[in-house]
Amino acid sequence: MPDDNSKTALALKIGVIVIAVGAALFLALRSGDEAEQPDAAEDAMPYICLDDNHVFTLTPKSFQEMSRQGEVKTDGQRLDEGRTFVRCPTTKQFTAVPAIKCPKDGAFFPGRLKDGTPGKCPKCGYAFYHTHP
Ligand SMILES: [Zn+2]
Ligand SMILES: [Zn+2]
Repeated sequence: MPDDNSKTALALKIGVIVIAVGAALFLALRSGDEAEQPDAAEDAMPYICLDDNHVFTLTPKSFQEMSRQGEVKTDGQRLDEGRTFVRCPTTKQFTAVPAIKCPKDGAFFPGRLKDGTPGKCPKCGYAFYHTHP
């Protein structure tokens, strides 16, 4: 016959198990079935719209979500060769591309233009990509 002490111990053990299972479930639900991308502002990447030149930033997580919703188009096999187009929040067209921040004057400009040629800084002409002969 279990006395009160062992009943209390059993209740405590069950309580610990319930909490552990609950925590595991909580973590499993939070992490989802695929790896979440960082959503911090310091991880945000700049994008620039080729039509209206406005610059906006997307965190890797919001980029991933846009990509899931079909709001990102890419036509290249290699990241540095291909062009990635993101749907611009204002024009609703696939006109925004990853932007480069000029290391000399801080101006944002498109890494590549619509035709795939490297973009240049509007202020000093700096180009992040170089054309291959
Ligand atoms: Zn735009
Ligand atoms: Zn510049």
